Amino acid sequence: MPGERDEGIILTFDDGEENIYRHALPILREFGVRAVVFLIVGYIGEKNTWDISLTGRRVAHLDWNQIHQLKKGGMEIGSHGMTHRNLARLSTAELEYELNGSKAIIEKELGTIRCISYPFNRINPAVRRMAARAGYRYGFGGNGDDDLTLKKEAIYITDTRASLAIKVTEKPPVAYGYYRTQQKVINFFTLATMIARRRSDIVLKGQKIKEAS
Ligand SMILES: [Zn+2]
Repeated sequence: MPGERDEGIILTFDDGEENIYRHALPILREFGVRAVVFLIVGYIGEKNTWDISLTGRRVAHLDWNQIHQLKKGGMEIGSHGMTHRNLARLSTAELEYELNGSKAIIEKELGTIRCISYPFNRINPAVRRMAARAGYRYGFGGNGDDDLTLKKEAIYITDTRASLAIKVTEKPPVAYGYYRTQQKVINFFTLATMIARRRSDIVLKGQKIKEAS
């Protein structure tokens, strides 16, 4: 977990999809591994509403009961914003909604959280500043300059055992900057979802919004 050890790997899961509970949690528990799970707070408990994939499959999201189970199972819960928007493009009011609003909702259920994962890995100095002000201790996504801009190494469904080994064992670049712990962040998400989200228009909760690349 962030800051726990001098060295190691931090496993993270973005988007709070239900499959984390169904597929990842049993395996993580079997091997005694913990991870940080990032919720899109506006979609907690939502079924078949917003996500799209190449197969047309729609993705269900974790509900509070499952999130509590994840926490009990040793996982750390963090925010992935309210609505999965590119934070670098938002106004101050919108940023507050995404950063402070999502944090407040999670904390009402689970108590204090420390971590945020920036959607699309998009961050700028204003986002970093607002995240710090909102009370986040660790921010996932960015250049690795400090604890609020931790660089992630993405794992895709297309990764092989060999490519995974390289990603896990290669030395973090000097610019990593996570000086206190030198931990490496490994982030899981599906290639299909990633590509789908690159489409210029994503239908989100019935309303069309513009997304960055
Ligand atoms: Zn995401």
